Amino acid sequence: MLAKKTIYPLTWTKENFSIKIFCSIPNIATGILIRAGNAHFVVDPGDGILRDLNKELKISDILNISDVFVTHGHHDHVGGVWSLLTYLRVMNKKSPLYIHYPKGCLEIVHIHNAFNKVYSNNISYKIILKEITDNKSFTSKKVLIKPFPVVHKEYMGDHNVTRQVPALGFKFTFNEIKICYGGDTAYCEELVRHASKSDLAILEAGHDDETADEMHMTLSEAKSIGESAKEYFLVHVPE
Ligand SMILES: [Zn+2]
Ligand SMILES: [Zn+2]
Repeated sequence: MLAKKTIYPLTWTKENFSIKIFCSIPNIATGILIRAGNAHFVVDPGDGILRDLNKELKISDILNISDVFVTHGHHDHVGGVWSLLTYLRVMNKKSPLYIHYPKGCLEIVHIHNAFNKVYSNNISYKIILKEITDNKSFTSKKVLIKPFPVVHKEYMGDHNVTRQVPALGFKFTFNEIKICYGGDTAYCEELVRHASKSDLAILEAGHDDETADEMHMTLSEAKSIGESAKEYFLVHVPE
């Protein structure tokens, strides 16, 4: 079955909690903005995130972004991190920036190290890396965040050997409204559990045929999970 092409951006709002998915195309880029009251979070800042944030927000709101959530280190999810960090420095951000990422996600650690090395002593704001090790819930700006492990494998070199990527999904709850974002994932019980009864589930359907694997979900797998939520978006569909 061929998916209908998703037209981005996708937006969803309930009361003063909203999400805008600027883009979610496998191997190209993802970029997501969450607004919760006056707070702004960025999720999976892929390439193009600066352009999209600047179209959407005033500079003062961009400077107030408090938290970045990274589901995993694939380039289509972190490709915009360097430019985001640099832009915030150039624009003289003062408030701290928290970056939440799964334990073992070397991309974030090394981008951060390189950034510190290049701009040492000349960064206007604090970058606080929050490695997620135990998947415990935490709160930022009155939003409850529950990370959960997902199944997302990748090929090693050109062999038929795969390895699990450090990868998470996130469930965001604000004033009892729940948004569940699975990141990149195969069908897995943790995702089934967290997506169920969410106000919005954002589910990748990144697998390009209907044979299940351990990297991405098929369209029917993603739909079956989506139907357990009040509303859902299918994203990361190959174009
Ligand atoms: Zn991806
Ligand atoms: Zn991925």
